[in-house]
Amino acid sequence: MSDRYGVVGNPIDHSLSPQIHTAFAAQTGEDLVYEKLLAPLDGFAGTVQAFFTEGGRGLNVTVPFKLEACELADELTERAAAAGAVNTLVSDEHGNLLGDNTDGAGLVADIRENLGWVIEDKRVLLLGAGGAARGALLPLLAERPAQLHIANRTAAKACQLADEFSHYGAMTAGGLDELCGGFDLVINASSASLDNQLPPLPEDLLTSSGRAYDMVYGAKPTPFVHWARAQGAEAADGLGMLVGQAAEAFFLWRGVKPRVEPVLAQLRRTLKA
Ligand code: NDP
Repeated sequence: MSDRYGVVGNPIDHSLSPQIHTAFAAQTGEDLVYEKLLAPLDGFAGTVQAFFTEGGRGLNVTVPFKLEACELADELTERAAAAGAVNTLVSDEHGNLLGDNTDGAGLVADIRENLGWVIEDKRVLLLGAGGAARGALLPLLAERPAQLHIANRTAAKACQLADEFSHYGAMTAGGLDELCGGFDLVINASSASLDNQLPPLPEDLLTSSGRAYDMVYGAKPTPFVHWARAQGAEAADGLGMLVGQAAEAFFLWRGVKPRVEPVLAQLRRTLKA
């Protein structure tokens, strides 16, 4: 019988994860099935426990359960512990649940490998201080940027995040209204694009060769991608991050690293259609 994997969330209908993991399995010859699990808002732990009791091997976790998954896991990877959020669960032979967070690694892989952009020695700005920003900090610091600044609508949250992560590396933080220009890479980890909004940004935010990355993705360019391109900058949305985090999870589960590019291209075509 094929090994069972899945993604758990609420809502879950929109999830592209089954498409991604089914494509990874076909590409690598891994024998698995991947399903969507809708957990009741007050029934995440029960849904997860039933899945693993019935022989499930691994789960992706999406909105709004990433914090609960962190509490449920018996053991955490360093990046999941730092993020305080789990997007991937795997069960060992004793039934213990390991929680990982592959979002930040997926982001960095997309930036470095798919887009070919460099983070090392660059001035990097991270917009937002929610769960996605938390997950991105450790993998971004590992790339050794020249500067990492966190800016958030609620400045206090950005400062708190920088404080919490200060022992991992140097970073600065503040509000959107205090932002000055000169960044080589601006990563939008805010959810503004989901509401079709653009955070207030100064016009000189990016250097002349600066690049912009929005974690949100869609059929059309997001407001942030649109803004960056209007400044003459190269810009990308977060579809590659989605596929990248899935590839990291697939590797954790199966020990095989799938190729991201063909799946990303297929997904882009599906989205546009
Ligand atoms: P959270 O709800 O935890 O945080 C949202 C953040 O966005 C907060 O910092 C909030 O600021 C800020 N924000 C919201 N609206 C605005 C606005 N209009 N202007 C400026 N800032 C705003 O969300 P997550 O961190 O979990 O997710 C952020 C985004 O990243 C989501 O849109 C999600 O879709 C995307 N994402 C993409 C992934 C991918 O694979 N591509 C993976 C994970 C997330 P404040 O603190 O002031 O409220």
